[in-house]
Amino acid sequence: YGLNALSNRSYKVILRRTGKDELLTVEDESYVFRDLHPGAVYLYEAESYVVEDLDLEEKIVRILRADVEFYTQSLKHTEITPLDKQAQGKTGPNKDIEKFYGRVKVEHEYYSYKVIDTISQEIISRHPLENIPIIEFETQAVWFTIPFELQKELELEGFDLGGTIHAIEHAMIAMAPALAQISRWDLGGVSIDFDTVKQQPIIYIYDAYRGGIGISEQLYFNLFELLNLSFKLIESCSCKSSNGCPVCIMSPKCGNNNDPLDKEGALFLLNKLLDAK
Ligand SMILES: [Zn+2]
Ligand SMILES: [Zn+2]
Repeated sequence: YGLNALSNRSYKVILRRTGKDELLTVEDESYVFRDLHPGAVYLYEAESYVVEDLDLEEKIVRILRADVEFYTQSLKHTEITPLDKQAQGKTGPNKDIEKFYGRVKVEHEYYSYKVIDTISQEIISRHPLENIPIIEFETQAVWFTIPFELQKELELEGFDLGGTIHAIEHAMIAMAPALAQISRWDLGGVSIDFDTVKQQPIIYIYDAYRGGIGISEQLYFNLFELLNLSFKLIESCSCKSSNGCPVCIMSPKCGNNNDPLDKEGALFLLNKLLDAK
């Protein structure tokens, strides 16, 4: 790698060995802060490594070769701010789902990570993450509000609002590949139970790449279809837990540890959103 080819967001990943160090590869900071923090397990070309040190000043990650039977997953807090609206409309049989498409600013703050046993998938330990800078990028998103009436009904029925919209967000991301040529890893999501501007719950789905790659726009135009598919996904899953399961509303990439989730609440709310009054 020529130094000139490195953007100012690139980190050199250096393998520490007795005798000499070796430049293994280069990774973008968005990946580094999530998956190459100190203590993280890094998989590269079928070999496993453990991160020894993350040097923010020099933009270097130092790793050691290690055969381990665990992997790591970081947890994050995400802030999302709409920057403009390029389209807006209403959808659903009652035209009560207000939807938007536009540019947003996304900020991720990684605050902790879990060590998970590769075989049993059990959590072995949890660790705080300190001094990891906040990642900030602009991208495209589709978002929509939950009508106040329906929020009221949901809460009167005793469902958890936060868990309900978080579950819907996960189901939408799980089903989006049925509508666009993507994988769920190409999208991120944020569900907000009280937006201070709109004074309503909002679900955001955004392109997980700087600048965006056009997925959100497609989803904006197919939002009703996506909500329908999400309902079918959850309804057809026979799991009995209120947190759902990995087939329906649990996400392998949730930055909030799949908490809270309310499967029955999601079915109740989606049913209200999708059915004509
Ligand atoms: Zn399930
Ligand atoms: Zn989540």
